[in-house]
Amino acid sequence: MDFEKLKTHLAAHGVQKYRLTQIRKAVYEQGVRSWDQMSAVPAPLREELAPQFPMLSCKLAALRISKVSDARKALLEFKDGARIETVLLNAGSGWSVCVSSQVGCPVRCVFCATGKMGFKRNLSAIEIEEQVLFWLQHVRQEKLAQRISSVVFMGMGEPFMNYTEVVKAIGLISSHDGLGIGQRHISVSTSGFPRGIMKLASDLPQVNLALSLHTVDDLERSRLMPINRRFGLDDLKKALELYIKRTKREVFLEYAVMAGHNDSPAHARKLIEWVRSISGSYLLHVNLIPCNKVKGSQFEASTGDAERFAARLLPAGVKATVRKSLGHDIAAACGQLAAGSEGKR
Ligand code: SAH
Ligand code: SF4
Repeated sequence: MDFEKLKTHLAAHGVQKYRLTQIRKAVYEQGVRSWDQMSAVPAPLREELAPQFPMLSCKLAALRISKVSDARKALLEFKDGARIETVLLNAGSGWSVCVSSQVGCPVRCVFCATGKMGFKRNLSAIEIEEQVLFWLQHVRQEKLAQRISSVVFMGMGEPFMNYTEVVKAIGLISSHDGLGIGQRHISVSTSGFPRGIMKLASDLPQVNLALSLHTVDDLERSRLMPINRRFGLDDLKKALELYIKRTKREVFLEYAVMAGHNDSPAHARKLIEWVRSISGSYLLHVNLIPCNKVKGSQFEASTGDAERFAARLLPAGVKATVRKSLGHDIAAACGQLAAGSEGKR
């Protein structure tokens, strides 16, 4: 919903201010799905506003609910036919929404399903915010929760290749006039754009940063993540140091454990060395994700691989946690989002 436009519209038409507050509460707190549900607002006003200000500009094309974990995935379709996936998950500390920032992704990491589908376009700030609003409506309707606890930019796309809209979207999602999700409950994950990392430190120092590292060998990283040919590990190190100096915030290093590719004792030793060489390294935290297998890729992890790798890091004082993967059965886990033919009507 374009709330700013609604605000201007109501002011221009001399509608009393408290009506705006009523609408705001209904949309962003109660998560109503249609204007008809806003019984406090007089019917003639609702009828006038409904066609001009739809709750969502996208429509639901498919919804999948995991049978093995608290994860749900929605395929949303925008007016131009662009389709994206967004995920709702609960790992035990409230419902979190994983949003997409682009339709597809131009970075093309070899282990990621989104990378394989190519790139169509950037999403606008409102299209990003709407993914959270969609799930708020869903959790209220399904009586799962009263609110969304956190938002992560870990869906389809590279957030820093759509920097301006992502920053605007975070503004909307955290606004007290909107969804009101605090910036400390919002995380952005990047495949490694140094300028984006440094800009985020000045523009949104409260937002959590995650860097998808996966290996600290430049040759290997370039093979896995073509972006590393443009911005190598030294560039990332400098950006991280600056980020930490400016924000004094913890940074998460995402490491998808790919059996036989980046999980040897030598890989662990190199990672320990790399982390230690960064000034402010005490603020770095390694998140180990067992690599999820995607179609057409040979990368995956077996049970226990990530735990074994963690056990090599911890004695050296490198903070490391194995992330529980949710939503395997509905292809909603990290790297599995693709918005392909599945779910097409
Ligand atoms: N484009 C951003 C954010 C979206 S991806 C980024 O790359 O950081 C979210 C996370 O899932 C990233 O850390 C990414 O590297 C990881 N990922 C991608 N494919 C994966 C896979 N097959 N298994 C596990 N993690 C994967
Ligand atoms: Fe894009 Fe992230 Fe997937 Fe790489 S891992 S292709 S950057 S979505």
